[in-house]
Amino acid sequence: MATIEFRDIEKIFDDGTQAVDDFSLNVQDGEFMVFVGPSGCGKSTLLRMLAGLEEITSGAILIGDNIVNDWTPQRRNIAMVFQNYALYPHMSVRRNLEFPLRMAKMPKSDRQRRVAETAELLGLTAYLERRPKQLSGGQRQRVAMGRAVVRKPSVFLMDEPLSNLDAKMRVQIRTEIAALQKRLGTTTIYVTHDQVEAMTLGTRVAILRDGILQQVAPPKTLYGRPANIFVASFLGNPGMSLFPANISRSAQGYPKLHVGEQQLELKTTASRAAELPIDQPLVAGLRPEALTPVREGPQLSLRVETIESLGHEQLVYGQLPNANYSGSESVDHLLQSIGHSTGQLIARLPVDYAVRPGNDLTVGIDERQLYFFNLEGKAL
Ligand code: ATP
Repeated sequence: MATIEFRDIEKIFDDGTQAVDDFSLNVQDGEFMVFVGPSGCGKSTLLRMLAGLEEITSGAILIGDNIVNDWTPQRRNIAMVFQNYALYPHMSVRRNLEFPLRMAKMPKSDRQRRVAETAELLGLTAYLERRPKQLSGGQRQRVAMGRAVVRKPSVFLMDEPLSNLDAKMRVQIRTEIAALQKRLGTTTIYVTHDQVEAMTLGTRVAILRDGILQQVAPPKTLYGRPANIFVASFLGNPGMSLFPANISRSAQGYPKLHVGEQQLELKTTASRAAELPIDQPLVAGLRPEALTPVREGPQLSLRVETIESLGHEQLVYGQLPNANYSGSESVDHLLQSIGHSTGQLIARLPVDYAVRPGNDLTVGIDERQLYFFNLEGKAL
């Protein structure tokens, strides 16, 4: 087992593309670390650099106490699992599992024992004589994992290992990967663009955007205390609604939240809100579950645009009327930079709550779940 350290890593490809920018991160021994982010954010490049398949432009990668920049992939003792399984089609499952052990020149009796153990661990014993094409997608992915596990590497790297599986199988193999990693306790880095995988698998999750690390934290912390608007809108399904706002002080001394022409007195969170900048453009954020049918305390009105009924609940997509005010252009600009539409508000409401597209809807706001960000997008 091993710790991993990325130290000030930069990667610039020959054509000038900067794939990774000043990336530093420590992965603990036995940790399940997930890298998540939109396509092209540099996740695979980081894995490939760690595996020794891609050169580092500057910085250092450590496994344990050793700087491994110049080590061959073999010497790093890392096993990788890819989305396309990368199995040898002409070999049986047994031979596929045995292959890395043959490469390592392990004696035959040890090889046989290891293959049998691994097949047992992954539920593959009955399929050992089959060829990959005689297996389902899920079974193939199990063989791919088996081939990674069989040589007891110090690190597992998994690059989107579930993306070729159907939704049901993805959930099943995801659970199996979690159980396997827990059982073996091998330090793992798992790359995905699927936030559900990231949130369910990771001890910690590192969120990347354009080659830059945005935040690394346990899933709950990322969801509850996003460091910036990108993390806030990326996580959650749907993500946090973000809109221009500012705060003034009411005659009674309570902070007042202005959203377009609407004003909300913040009583419950008055002391926290008092620490926020007064009369300056801000980004406010609300997760869908922070909007409630309860009509007490602060409320917001919106024009309902579309409704998605999910059976047990409904997602109501609405637009804040006159969300803009003088000074809010800078907020719009910021939100556009992360591909977020301004003024849209999404509420998660009970399925029997009467609501219709085109109508106005007033919802209660759980003000303890109000988020604020400055014009650089940083959480306040
Ligand atoms: P995806 O989820 O789509 O696989 P990713 O987050 O894994 O994306 P990378 O594959 O690491 O992203 O790519 C990061 C950036 O580096 C992208 O802009 C990509 O186009 C670029 N890139 C990757 N490989 C090369 C290469 N060999 N030459 C030039 N640019 C590259």
